[in-house]
Amino acid sequence: MQGADAIRSLKGIGDKTEKTFHLAGIDTIDDLVTWYPRYYLTYEEPVYIADAQPGIRIAVLGKITNTPAYRQYRGLKIINVNIRDHSGSLALTWYNMPYLRNTLHMGESRIFVGTPVLKNGRMVMEQPEIYTIEAYEKQRENLQPVYPLTRGLTNKMIAKAMAQTVPYMETMEEYLPSFIVEKYGLMPYGQALKNVHFPVVKEQVGKARARLMFDEFFIFLAAMRMVKERTGVIENHYLIKETKESRHFEENLPFRLTNAQARALKEMKADLLRGEVMNRLVQGDVGSGKTILAMILLLMAATSGYQGALMAPTEVLAVQHYESFTKMLAPYGVRVALLTGSTTAKNKRDIYKQLKNHEIDIIIGTHALIQDKVEYDQLALVITDEQHRFGVRQREALSKKGYEPHVLVMSATPIPRTLALIMYGDLDISIIDELPADRLPIKNCVVNTGYRPNAYRFITKQVQMGRQAYVICPMVEESENVEAENVTEYTKVLQANLPPSIRVECLNGRMKAKDKNDIMDRFDKGEIDVLVSTTVIEVGINVPNATVMMVENAERFGLAQLHQLRGRIGRGAFQSYCIFIAGKDNEETKKRLEILNKSNDGFYIANEDLKLRGPGDFFGIRQSGMMDFVLADIYDNADLLKMASDAMKDLEEDGFSFSNLSNDRLKKQLELALQL
Ligand code: ADP
Ligand code: MG
Repeated sequence: MQGADAIRSLKGIGDKTEKTFHLAGIDTIDDLVTWYPRYYLTYEEPVYIADAQPGIRIAVLGKITNTPAYRQYRGLKIINVNIRDHSGSLALTWYNMPYLRNTLHMGESRIFVGTPVLKNGRMVMEQPEIYTIEAYEKQRENLQPVYPLTRGLTNKMIAKAMAQTVPYMETMEEYLPSFIVEKYGLMPYGQALKNVHFPVVKEQVGKARARLMFDEFFIFLAAMRMVKERTGVIENHYLIKETKESRHFEENLPFRLTNAQARALKEMKADLLRGEVMNRLVQGDVGSGKTILAMILLLMAATSGYQGALMAPTEVLAVQHYESFTKMLAPYGVRVALLTGSTTAKNKRDIYKQLKNHEIDIIIGTHALIQDKVEYDQLALVITDEQHRFGVRQREALSKKGYEPHVLVMSATPIPRTLALIMYGDLDISIIDELPADRLPIKNCVVNTGYRPNAYRFITKQVQMGRQAYVICPMVEESENVEAENVTEYTKVLQANLPPSIRVECLNGRMKAKDKNDIMDRFDKGEIDVLVSTTVIEVGINVPNATVMMVENAERFGLAQLHQLRGRIGRGAFQSYCIFIAGKDNEETKKRLEILNKSNDGFYIANEDLKLRGPGDFFGIRQSGMMDFVLADIYDNADLLKMASDAMKDLEEDGFSFSNLSNDRLKKQLELALQL
């Protein structure tokens, strides 16, 4: 028997059963043996019949008090029997098992295991398992696996097919080198499979599952590693050094870099001079000052005679970066340009030409930057802002444009260490875990809608002191079933409630890019006092003079997203305030918002958010299947994840090549990793 064999080769699997299995995604022996039980039924001591309760699985020891009654009803062959112990009696029913007529006899005592239900006011146990007292004693030592079922698929069908694969599991080869198996005390793979499906002793189930979870992590990490192997070592053709200009720029910054910024910068400068191109993630909480690092590196690239690109997820952010870059880099004669979706066709053509002729040194924009049409003279450094990662495919797109550039990914979504380990196995990571010293911690409050008048007064006061405010609403237009505040309406309400001298404007995702940019620009310049907005301002925007953020329907947002939103304030030396208005106050909402109320630490919040929502939702990649481990859970099994990662390192030092690890699951994971 081989893993790739069709399950059709097993006894008892014909056309119909094969189809049923197929619907569950089980086609081969390997699919079958990795269809793990969800949990195990144990066999408890029998209870008295009088203690039976509907819906609770029990064993009862009873004497059969009648000759089994047999009848047919609507094509069902039904057998009824009554049993009794000294506490009471119970009716038992079996369907389509007519042969029981000959095995059950009046006067015999048997143990029956099943879940009683109420039928017409009477307690009935349907389809109970039947044991002699001796057989039950034996059974009590067993754990019975309970499998995930799909339409038509029964536990029995699975168990029957599984039983035939035992010889295959027993002779299965361990694919990990024995020193790893020993060092980490792993149960050998085949043995683990067998124990998961046919557990003999409870303790072994734990060890078996641990081994299989280790595998899930290990295979995942190996896939990430293979992505790296496949991409190969990318030779560094662009030695980007510090220049006269970049030193001057660094020495004349309006502030001192924080220690964390300085450390990250040093790591990146070292990357740029190595034999291999840089492939690094900078993770820094909102407001920790990532942009300035990007600026320094891009200035280094430009003044070293190369070109650099900065890619932002939204046009609004790209425009803002463009403006601060042109302003701050003006003294150094560096040519900066902006390329986005709303750049006019003529301008685009000009920019393409200038990029190709190296008349532009730094290009800032959205994804337009790496489209096929765009050609560079010498693109040496690509920085993406507010992205989780820069996929292999995107890299491939770039490599067509010349030698592969250095890549830096900047993300403000703080990811707990264990997760960063899996998500970014192929990247180096710098963490900026420190905010500039001049920052005052944001003051938060979580209130209900009754607090609005106070909030309006507070905003008025702040504006009169020269500050600005954001008000966030979740929806753009009124919709019938969602009672969310809508931006346009809300803007009118605010205008009516605030003194007429206060300039209130509105920004939403449906507006034309040009109009959005225009509004943002005026807010930046202080020509707008209160900006009512949807979450379009969520990422990246930097207006240090804004000190108030009021979030309507805060319960509708994820915690990480709220933290991102709140990150728009507290970016300067002024005390900032965040008002979360909960449109609904139930316990769960309160608990979630309380996490934000208590903490301004993005790493802590991300952790809590992850616990509440699970990793798939958190990353928005539930669909990708990437993190869908079957048994393992990155939270509960963080120790195994660590172990798998340590084992990978051991293997690497040992010169193990992951491309030799031929395994169907690995191949599947690899495909997913490549897509991400
Ligand atoms: P983020 O990490 O969220 O992208 P930014 O790079 O936009 O943050 O920086 C937020 C603000 O902090 C900007 O106004 C920036 O000029 C300022 N800033 C950056 N580094 C420092 C520092 N070391 N000291 C004081 N202010 C800083
Ligand atoms: Mg930023």
